[in-house]
Amino acid sequence: MNAFGYHSPARVADAAALRQRHADSTYIAGGQSLLGAMKLGLAAPSDLIDLGNLPGLSGITVQGDVLRIGAMATHATVAASTDVKKLIPALAQLADGIGDPAVRTRGTLGGSLANNDPAACYPAAVLALSATVHTERRDIDGDSFFLGLYETALQPGELITGVSFKVPQRAAYVKFKQPASRFALVGVFVSQGAQGTRVAVTGAGACAFRASALETALAKDWSTKAILDISVSADGLNTDLHASAAYRAHLIGVLARRAVAQAG
Ligand SMILES: Cc1cc2nc3c(=O)[nH]c(=O)nc-3n(C[C@H](O)[C@H](O)[C@H](O)COP(=O)(O)OP(=O)(O)OC[C@H]3O[C@@H](n4cnc5c(N)ncnc54)[C@H](O)[C@@H]3O)c2cc1C
Repeated sequence: MNAFGYHSPARVADAAALRQRHADSTYIAGGQSLLGAMKLGLAAPSDLIDLGNLPGLSGITVQGDVLRIGAMATHATVAASTDVKKLIPALAQLADGIGDPAVRTRGTLGGSLANNDPAACYPAAVLALSATVHTERRDIDGDSFFLGLYETALQPGELITGVSFKVPQRAAYVKFKQPASRFALVGVFVSQGAQGTRVAVTGAGACAFRASALETALAKDWSTKAILDISVSADGLNTDLHASAAYRAHLIGVLARRAVAQAG
């Protein structure tokens, strides 16, 4: 790991200003992705701007039919939240299934979304629950947030402050875990509610995406039977040492049916 400067601002505006002042700096949340990348030499920021002391970034609040979760809320906090468990149990379950206790204790919602790992779980929830990503500059529609492999709509230095999830009538997230890391080999999040009928897939492509054929069928008939005969194309899906694109395509259908059954 290269030497780096360290800053621990106490205000969001100061964090953003530091990020602008040090062109090769980066934010650090729980360090669960960043530190690994730095150790491997994949990232070599000149300065780390620690978001850990910024006030007001880790709370969870309910505003009508919207659940707002702060960017610095850890996965363990989301998993244990009474409000999340009551309003969107699928989201609490998703958070509880991320990595292992150490990762859940340090890893954050904002870090997960900003990093946009192709196998991350939260991006599927953002798409399936029609979420809005809040930054210190603007609100970004979840549907236009994930642009590609580790690529998001965030501009350089833009800081995620929180995410608003629409409370669905029903929802479920089912993932087929890569057994070593517990990242999603494939994960499918289904939901139905004011946001419509949504099916979001993670782990299978360059970034999370919505499966429109499954959504159309489920919008007409929310049942496992309705999607039994829909085959998902393997075109453009990931092939790696863990699974082929064809295997991942098959898993999308299987997991979507399990998720629909689980959502009830
Ligand atoms: C062993 C292991 C297993 C894992 N398993 C899973 C899994 O099953 N499912 C899953 O979804 N994830 C998994 N993860 C990833 C984990 O969920 C982390 O949350 C994720 O890596 C982000 O970590 P972090 O919040 O600590 O962010 P960091 O590592 O601190 O930062 C990651 C990136 O996001 C940027 N960033 C951080 N916060 C913000 C912000 N608020 N605004 C703008 N940019 C920001 C940083 O600059 C950096 O580029 C796993 C990680 C490990 C190490």
